[in-house]
Amino acid sequence: MTVKSTTSKHLGRVGPIDHHNPLQDMHAQLTKAERILKPDRNDIEALRHPKRQVIVSVPVRMDDGSLHYFTGYRVLYDNTRGPGKGGIRYHPDVTLDEVTALAGWMSWKCAILDLAFGGAKGGVACDPSSLSEGELERLTRRYVAEIFELIGPTIDIPAPDLGTSPRVMAWVMDTFSMKKGYVEPGVVTGKPIILGGSKGREEATGRGLMYAVRDVQRTRGRTLDQTTVAIQGFGNVGSNAARLLHRAGARVIAVSDVGGGILDPNGLDIPLLLTHREEHHSLVGFKGATSIDNATLLELPCEVLLPAALEAQIHEGNAGRLRAQVVVEGANGPTTPDADDILKQRGIVVVPDILANAGGVVVSYFEWVQDRYGFFWPESDVIARLEEKMNAAFASVWDEAALHSVDLRTGAYILAIKRLIEARRLRGFYA
Ligand code: NAD
Repeated sequence: MTVKSTTSKHLGRVGPIDHHNPLQDMHAQLTKAERILKPDRNDIEALRHPKRQVIVSVPVRMDDGSLHYFTGYRVLYDNTRGPGKGGIRYHPDVTLDEVTALAGWMSWKCAILDLAFGGAKGGVACDPSSLSEGELERLTRRYVAEIFELIGPTIDIPAPDLGTSPRVMAWVMDTFSMKKGYVEPGVVTGKPIILGGSKGREEATGRGLMYAVRDVQRTRGRTLDQTTVAIQGFGNVGSNAARLLHRAGARVIAVSDVGGGILDPNGLDIPLLLTHREEHHSLVGFKGATSIDNATLLELPCEVLLPAALEAQIHEGNAGRLRAQVVVEGANGPTTPDADDILKQRGIVVVPDILANAGGVVVSYFEWVQDRYGFFWPESDVIARLEEKMNAAFASVWDEAALHSVDLRTGAYILAIKRLIEARRLRGFYA
């Protein structure tokens, strides 16, 4: 059997340390909130233990006829209030610990947004940019076949994440439906609209981020048209946040992707940049902008820094050099706990991932609801309900943080812990 290398050519990390462990970060964040809330030990222990972690081998016939074995994961972290919910990540660095951390963050996020979902996540260690469309489809179908019994509209519902897209979600839906023998759109969200996707889902995370930027700026007496923003990552999350913030009047001065970034202190013309990227498959070379690297982008003077790529981009090594006044986390886990402490000391406000980037899961929830009753909403309803959910969650996190005199991340954790513990207590302990 020939084994193909999965070394990434296109999906490098700019993070501080290759062996960084997001699960340790998630536990450290939980501990911080625990110290304030002092819950019963039995209650908090339940939140430290994922319900189920699965590793599968995903054999794929490559275009050259060789067989390559990829490793796939699915973690159901919590299902106290409903089925698990969480994306599928395709990236060379996916590990069980990373998927578990992401599944935990999904659990807190769904509790903060008050959704009838628990938290889950999945992933396959692969570099999607080095796979042909046929290889990507075969990989997706085999991965779904391997986790077939663990997913479903009442069990655990995947969605897109880093390296996956509505195209991939359509294959997930088809594979699951073919194996069941009937069409089951509710097994996955983030699908193309024609297959039961929701209007407004594709840009939902970016839209939610725009509301988060607006809400936090409001607390500082600032409006969006007075706000400058730098965005790391220009995929689904980063590009939609850039587009919607630009449209709402903010000045997006810098953006980057894995290939590097660009800067224009007067503000980038985002619609023109999106056309440039479509034509050239790169941000580089955009007229009137200066090329910068990802490390420089993070340290630019701006009001809002919006990391929307990978974990651990803001770390002990660069947190002291950040010149943003606010960090609004688009990616999951972009700030390490050490960096969080440094930012706090420096008076830099952080709107945490489990609140700021929750727009995607909110509209995923709407998609699941629509699929389950087979009636679809106009986009204006989706947007209005998303805004309502995001505003309510921001206000609840803000109040919790103020009540305990803690930062917004700890406030968000306290809110999630309280809701999950209350729900668990009401259900009781089955043993
Ligand atoms: P994506 O694959 O669409 O885009 C990722 C972007 O990050 C690309 O522009 C890529 O070039 C860039 N990137 C990758 N490695 C980089 C690096 N080393 N330095 C700089 N940029 C790099 O993924 P996405 O869906 O936009 O997800 C981005 C982040 O947002 C992830 O952390 C994901 O977990 C999180 N997130 C996504 C959603 C969603 O709905 N898609 C929801 C919540 C959170």
